Amino acid sequence: MPRRLPDRVDALRRAEQGVDLCGHIALARMPRLTGALCDREGEAYAELRFDRDLQGIRFIAGRVAARLRMTCQRCLEPMEVRVERELMLGLVRTESEAERLPAEYEPLLVGSAPLAIAEAVEDELILGLPLVALHAEGEHCPVRTPYRAGDDDARRHGEGPFAVLERLKRGH
Ligand SMILES: [Zn+2]
Repeated sequence: MPRRLPDRVDALRRAEQGVDLCGHIALARMPRLTGALCDREGEAYAELRFDRDLQGIRFIAGRVAARLRMTCQRCLEPMEVRVERELMLGLVRTESEAERLPAEYEPLLVGSAPLAIAEAVEDELILGLPLVALHAEGEHCPVRTPYRAGDDDARRHGEGPFAVLERLKRGH
């Protein structure tokens, strides 16, 4: 049975022991993430296995997932974004240890202070955010229909917006 996620964990020691932790973390505790969102409501879910591999590399493997609300950059309405990431973090104490890590691991620098789980999960969720949030095909996006229709109109008349620009630049 996995144990509940603590706020902080001695990651290296837990990896020596081999332990599974899982649980929910409020998004309100992730200010760097929520800065890119419409609101701070909801929570993230994380399943983390602390262990060491046959070469003695201590790692955290698992996944993080969250449903986030971002602003659609086309219609400026809120939309739901599901972020889910698998993670494979090699625990290192120095930059040179990080450089020696096998390629399958992302380095996670751990100091003498216990690892703040919310911060580690927040980092992963930030990496999983879309570069530009847009309503997907099949979702209601109020701006899409008129935009597409205008596009088609221009094509039917044999002249797209770029052709118009070209003509303006050439001065005819
Ligand atoms: Zn939209």
